[in-house]
Amino acid sequence: MRSLALGVVGGVGRPGPGRLVARSAEGVVDVGSLADVEGGPHPDLLAASSLDPLLAAGRPAWREVHGWLAERLRADHAPYVLPPAGLELRLPFTVADYVDFFACEQHAVNAGRIFRPDAEPLAPNWKHLPVGYHGRAGTVVVSGTPVTRPCGQRAAGDMGPTRTLDVEVELGFVCGGSTGPVPVDDALDHVFGVVLLNDWSARDVQAFETRPLGPMLGKSFATSISGWVTPLDELAAAWVDPPPRDPSPLPHLTGATDRGLDLALELSINGEPVSWPPAADLYWTAAQLVTHLTSNGAPLRPGDLLGSGTVSGARREQRGCLLELSWGGREPVVVGAGTRTYLEDGDEVVITATAPAVGGGRLELGEVRGRVLPARG
Ligand code: CA
Repeated sequence: MRSLALGVVGGVGRPGPGRLVARSAEGVVDVGSLADVEGGPHPDLLAASSLDPLLAAGRPAWREVHGWLAERLRADHAPYVLPPAGLELRLPFTVADYVDFFACEQHAVNAGRIFRPDAEPLAPNWKHLPVGYHGRAGTVVVSGTPVTRPCGQRAAGDMGPTRTLDVEVELGFVCGGSTGPVPVDDALDHVFGVVLLNDWSARDVQAFETRPLGPMLGKSFATSISGWVTPLDELAAAWVDPPPRDPSPLPHLTGATDRGLDLALELSINGEPVSWPPAADLYWTAAQLVTHLTSNGAPLRPGDLLGSGTVSGARREQRGCLLELSWGGREPVVVGAGTRTYLEDGDEVVITATAPAVGGGRLELGEVRGRVLPARG
């Protein structure tokens, strides 16, 4: 069954304001009209053209809205279902800051082994804090937006289109609520919900530029997110204990909210499933990412987007990027009738996910989709 999720739609080719919508089993629901006509909570927030005002309103409003919608959408709501023709999902909120973490141990170990085969795969700090870098908020795009193969410095003296365009299967945590440092036990009050995220990566550009300050142009050309944001309140049955940590995180990163999300991800290329990364394997949790990010006094802003980093499991078919699946391009991956080491022009990448539903069964969280266009001439 579909998760109850929120998004923003506009009409194809019509630039005007968007409209806040919810996803139900029957289709795309105009929640502004529903709340206005039927006296739902916070009709002003739901009549907005994006999620921005709702994100700023904080956890009590989020809980009220989710609870009301979950109940209301179980009853007849056909008059509020929008005709599907011409609807397109837009970027559902204004991305304030985008930070991408590196929270999966299996991915960090694999990437270390591939990029630095003669060194320890994990950096000395990795198990002490959630390593991350600040990405580029202005190039976050909604699912369905084509992505042009970027150009960059592939090596010293070598500028041109990347030869190693990759995907990274990630969760994105959409933040809101009040600003200021966030104790770990309050951290989830600042996470509205989850999007599926594809951190497109130009591996040759990334490898040449990354040391010592981290990735930049190899990542900043585009990051795709799903148009549907699934509220954390919808994922109540998905919480699981995180993997064992050794050493134990410091006290400010330890608390009851430090729990993982049992989301089963799937990566497809050109309609062929190639990988099934398990988000329950993430070493650092959403609460820890939020707490770490604000632990120096830097406030959160509504609309902050925190990427988990690539999700990879222990088995080959659980690796969340082609870098790992092809082991640095040395072991081609079967994709339908062909193979890939990295993405080719015209390839279409789709990430989907499911999560346990309250009362049994599984929720489908939507998708993030993107097709690769050739480099600009
Ligand atoms: Ca990433």
